[in-house]
Amino acid sequence: MKLTLAIVTLLLLASAHHAAAAPAAVPHVLVQSSTIEALAAGNFEGVLPLATLKGYGDFGLGSVGDLDGEITMLDGVCYHTDADGKVTIAENTLKMAFAEATFLQPATAVAIPAPLDHAAVLAWLDRTLPSPNYFYAIRIEGEFTDLVLWSGRKLQQTHADIASVLSGEKTTNVPRQRGTIIGFYAPSYAKGINLPGYHFHFLSEDKQLGGHLRDFHVANAAACLEMIPTLSLWLPTTERFGQSDLTTNQTDRMIEEGKKPAR
Ligand SMILES: [Zn+2]
Repeated sequence: MKLTLAIVTLLLLASAHHAAAAPAAVPHVLVQSSTIEALAAGNFEGVLPLATLKGYGDFGLGSVGDLDGEITMLDGVCYHTDADGKVTIAENTLKMAFAEATFLQPATAVAIPAPLDHAAVLAWLDRTLPSPNYFYAIRIEGEFTDLVLWSGRKLQQTHADIASVLSGEKTTNVPRQRGTIIGFYAPSYAKGINLPGYHFHFLSEDKQLGGHLRDFHVANAAACLEMIPTLSLWLPTTERFGQSDLTTNQTDRMIEEGKKPAR
């Protein structure tokens, strides 16, 4: 009996120590590692371990180092999608080239007047967000059609920029799927730091299908929208980042490449 109590006490002490060491779960803060312009300009090196990102959010997305797939974080679990669209639970040691996350607060879901195509969903979001001047976390759950998903394939050689990578990869087309859209809105003035407008990833309800979402229609879904007034930006301390020319607006090239029809 005494031994059992001692073990319980040790476990309690261990968990208390662990709780004290972990960063506090601060809501309404968007934590971001690297910038979209840096990624578009070829900063593909993994710099942020997923274990670290998880300390700062339970909802997020990102690109794995060397573009070895996409990450979608939902309810604190990180899902890794490879270039063939296969989803696995991501290793905590996986390092991200670009990532953003927040602790999503419980919110009332707003029904989206569906069916709506991609442009109409974005227009609805534009009308529904209280102000275009803040960052938002956006979680949409329901049934979607005409999904076009993309995930990076691990680089075998050094590419000059992300546009050439995007143009060389296939997309996965899904006619109809239940699941969750995990995404963020960034104001237009944040261009270069983040993608201006909307950045969505998708995870199917059965957690078998996912990735960066290029296109979709809403058949029947509801959205939770959370305004985020604080941005915590972590810049890579790599030699490449320090020497990159980040004045050439590769973000626009990346956006244009992403709009091209699916192959
Ligand atoms: Zn993405």
